[in-house]
Amino acid sequence: MIGPRLVLVLGDQLDRDARVLSQCDQARDRIVMIESRAESLKVASHKARSALFLAAMRHHRDWLVAQGFRVDYVDIDKPEAESFETALAAVIARHEPHSVLMTEAGEYSVQQSISHSCQSASVELEVEPDDHFLCDRATFETWASNRKTLVMEHFYRHMRQSHDILMVDGQPTGGHWNYDRQNRHAFGRQGPGLLPRPPAFTPDRVTQSAIRDVERLFPGNPGSLDAFDWPVTREQALAALDDFVDHRLAAFGPFQDAMWSGEPFLQHSLLSAALNLKLLNPREVIDIAIAAADAGRAPIQSVEGFVRQILGWREFVRGVYWRHMPAYLDSNALGAEADLPGFFWTGNTDMACLADAIGQTLRFGYAHHIQRLMVTGLFTLLLGVRPQQVHAWYLAVYVDAVEWVEAPNTLGMSQYADGGVLASKPYVASGRYINRMSNYCSHCRYAPDKATGPHACPFTTLYWDFLIRHAPRFASHPRSAMQWRNLARVDEARRTEIRAAADQLRLALG
Ligand SMILES: Cc1cc2nc3c(=O)[nH]c(=O)nc-3n(C[C@H](O)[C@H](O)[C@H](O)COP(=O)(O)OP(=O)(O)OC[C@H]3O[C@@H](n4cnc5c(N)ncnc54)[C@H](O)[C@@H]3O)c2cc1C
Ligand code: SF4
Repeated sequence: MIGPRLVLVLGDQLDRDARVLSQCDQARDRIVMIESRAESLKVASHKARSALFLAAMRHHRDWLVAQGFRVDYVDIDKPEAESFETALAAVIARHEPHSVLMTEAGEYSVQQSISHSCQSASVELEVEPDDHFLCDRATFETWASNRKTLVMEHFYRHMRQSHDILMVDGQPTGGHWNYDRQNRHAFGRQGPGLLPRPPAFTPDRVTQSAIRDVERLFPGNPGSLDAFDWPVTREQALAALDDFVDHRLAAFGPFQDAMWSGEPFLQHSLLSAALNLKLLNPREVIDIAIAAADAGRAPIQSVEGFVRQILGWREFVRGVYWRHMPAYLDSNALGAEADLPGFFWTGNTDMACLADAIGQTLRFGYAHHIQRLMVTGLFTLLLGVRPQQVHAWYLAVYVDAVEWVEAPNTLGMSQYADGGVLASKPYVASGRYINRMSNYCSHCRYAPDKATGPHACPFTTLYWDFLIRHAPRFASHPRSAMQWRNLARVDEARRTEIRAAADQLRLALG
């Protein structure tokens, strides 16, 4: 083949500083970007998630053209856009390239599919590492390979040291690695008070075209586009970052685990989608947060708590994903086989916490971490829903959902399907935890401290049922033994009662 070189830019690779762009010969090479209908259909993607990807890609295309790059952009309406594979085959046939250059894909199966397409067309594929991350895959492998278990805290400290982040003379800034004890507050009866409103980015012409296309092509997909105001360009993402640092970072730490009815965003940054699309670089996000601490505009416990999420958790889950793919997606360590309850797609449930978390998810494509982990995720874990169904739901409904970050969080942290690769014990709790961290229970028909009876909280029933069902596996586990020690005080008759209540609940939800 004698044509140009193709430089493939995937929908979540909208990094203006990507190494592949600096290697691109503007006069000779072609940049290829592909919109694919299958992307919104293989998991029935939330409309806001699809619109966000399309809008951000179209803005990036316009920016590339303005920089003088020649772009072959496969629009979602073209027949070849049926799937990514059909589009790539058509592009290769059109240009007859001598090679394809790309940044490594974030998703395992996408990289496999591109390699396969190039091989079938006898085109050389050059893959560059993804500079977006602070820990490249090889470095993570080196760190992980001589350890028996992977502990995020150890990885995070290693990252702080090796990147000299929040360190002074070899010691953690402020004297502590971790401010979790100061960071686990609930709001109390008075609630969160007047909250700063996150900035709204009114859809411009390009974004409106993406919204129209999604409504037209995927009318049956879940979620609403009525409130769509996510940042879709680098400029907007930077404005969102500044706004978070100016108005919410200071209170982020203490209340990062708190929930409040009707308040979907609280003090959270709402930056995950912009980070995952690579409109923002994690290092710049970390640096600006630390600068706020240095200037006395945010306390160290908030800044460290925020840095931990990005430098620690975000990089850690990516390393775990690549280390354990592709088998990771099939994991089901607890043998969970129930179906996902239908109300996960509607929010129609009388459980106030789930109605609120799912309702805001369908409205905005957003729920914060504790809602994902300790409301929706906790419920599916306790109910024993098949992890692959839970994974499909999380991958569908959040604007920030991309597999490399979603799968370890869902299958590992939330569902313990990986048997303890990511989290050393299952995150299980009863309705009492939700009651402590939110005001949901105050207007729910159920009582969080009741496991049986007409007002039994389903979380509490299922929590005790989970402990009973999984006692042989966890009762002697050093980190979870406490919860099972409490179970030891429950006599056989009471256990039978709880199990019967749980069975009834499953029947009702089935
Ligand atoms: C079951 C489940 C599924 C999840 N799926 C996704 C997903 O598809 N995409 C995604 O980006 N995050 C996912 N997360 C992690 C986390 O919930 C979101 O990153 C966060 O809620 C996004 O909101 P925010 O930007 O306001 O975050 P903030 O609370 O403001 O946190 C700051 C940033 O830290 C990073 N971060 C925080 N927690 C995590 C984490 N556990 N793993 C990786 N990065 C983290 C994110 O980039 C986030 O923007 C999931 C968590 C759970 C429990
Ligand atoms: S009582 Fe139970 S179901 Fe109701 S809001 Fe509280 S935790 Fe959720």
